[in-house]
Amino acid sequence: MKAEVLVVGDELLCGRRADLNGPFLVTALARAGVRVSRCVILPDSVGIISEEIRRILTCPVDVVILSGGLGATPDDKTREGVARALGLEPVMEEQVLAMVEEKIRIRGGGVPAILQRMAARIPGSTLLPNAVGIAPGQSVTHGPTTFFLLPGPPAELKEMFLHHVVPKLGAGDKQEVPRFLTFRTAGVKESELAARIEPLVGDKSRIRLSFLPGNGTVDLYVTEEAGSVQELNGLSERIKHALFKDLYAEEEVSLQEVVGRELAKSGGSLAVAESCTGGWLAKLISDVPGSSEYFLGGVVAYDNRIKQTRLLVPEELLAAHGAVSREVAQAMACGVRHALGSDWAISVTGIAGPGGGTREKPVGLVYVGLASPDGSLHVSKHMLGGDRATVRLTGATLALDLLRRALHKGFAQECEVISAPAQR
Ligand code: ATP
Ligand code: MG
Repeated sequence: MKAEVLVVGDELLCGRRADLNGPFLVTALARAGVRVSRCVILPDSVGIISEEIRRILTCPVDVVILSGGLGATPDDKTREGVARALGLEPVMEEQVLAMVEEKIRIRGGGVPAILQRMAARIPGSTLLPNAVGIAPGQSVTHGPTTFFLLPGPPAELKEMFLHHVVPKLGAGDKQEVPRFLTFRTAGVKESELAARIEPLVGDKSRIRLSFLPGNGTVDLYVTEEAGSVQELNGLSERIKHALFKDLYAEEEVSLQEVVGRELAKSGGSLAVAESCTGGWLAKLISDVPGSSEYFLGGVVAYDNRIKQTRLLVPEELLAAHGAVSREVAQAMACGVRHALGSDWAISVTGIAGPGGGTREKPVGLVYVGLASPDGSLHVSKHMLGGDRATVRLTGATLALDLLRRALHKGFAQECEVISAPAQR
């Protein structure tokens, strides 16, 4: 099965917004066993959209996914563009209009006349319900090709794709798509990973390794062009062995989800104390649905007075070692664990820059602390590269990783001297 993805939006072509839907769709289609032969961004133009559809009709694929332009504003052109190429005219339908109006009323809004445009349907199309937003999607089949028109807001597109497009794709032809394995790691440098993994692959030219560094994480994808499944399975075991404690998942889950699962499983609760990350760590943890089950909350202790009064970090400790120090990171974790009454606590203190660095404590220096249910304290020190945002996000990620190691495999004791900034 072959597909094309057409992402529509002027804002994506002038850099006002980054395209999130194209990358999501190509990944999700590949997972569903569908080979994507093309993914393009088009402007909000009926002429260009219909031209693109006509090109596809001359060289048909099985599935075309269109993203965006289904709303009610004058820049929403997708319905018209597709309809024109198919020689059809969208028709306003009372039933769809009633559904749109009802949704808007529930949200407490009036129903301006322009919203009627959302009720326009390409003749012969099937409506795709929008569980997140208002504008319905639609699918229309022409010859061997089915066109799926999905709304632009990424949360709406994702939900509609997973619930109303994937079930219609059938099983796909998995043989056509290169098989790949995913290994998600944290707290280790890309170059260190490559040195460990490359010798395992040797000169097998059919295997491709892709290392994708994030902030404090590196994802490794091992792809095998269609062929020996056995070889890939054998390699998988060797890679897992080599990654050992640095591997946190073999699927598309985030570090905070993995930590959340472990906490939920063990019944332990968590609190955080943040200085340089300013709440980012709490944000990551609470991004996970259901995190209220284990996440009690946190203290953003930027000023030293807050570290003293809210986290009970002794004044002498701050005076002797400075706020960015091993000792204060530990004291912050210990303090927030007591203040919030949690089982586990993690802390971050560091110098995010661009100013504030010294010779002894340069920009990028980050300490991460951990307080465990048995009262033991651990700390890891990192020298991180990158700009302010990178240092902050990496610091928050490495704090989560320290907790993951402690929770998951009892590795926290080994973290005393981790100094592996997850950088290239
Ligand atoms: P709406 O009814 O909200 O207008 P729509 O289907 O018409 O939905 P658009 O008008 O194209 O969609 O986009 C709506 C919002 O979603 C905009 O804020 C837009 O920037 C965002 N958006 C659209 N497409 C993408 C994309 N590919 N990646 C990221 N954001 C997107
Ligand atoms: Mg719109």
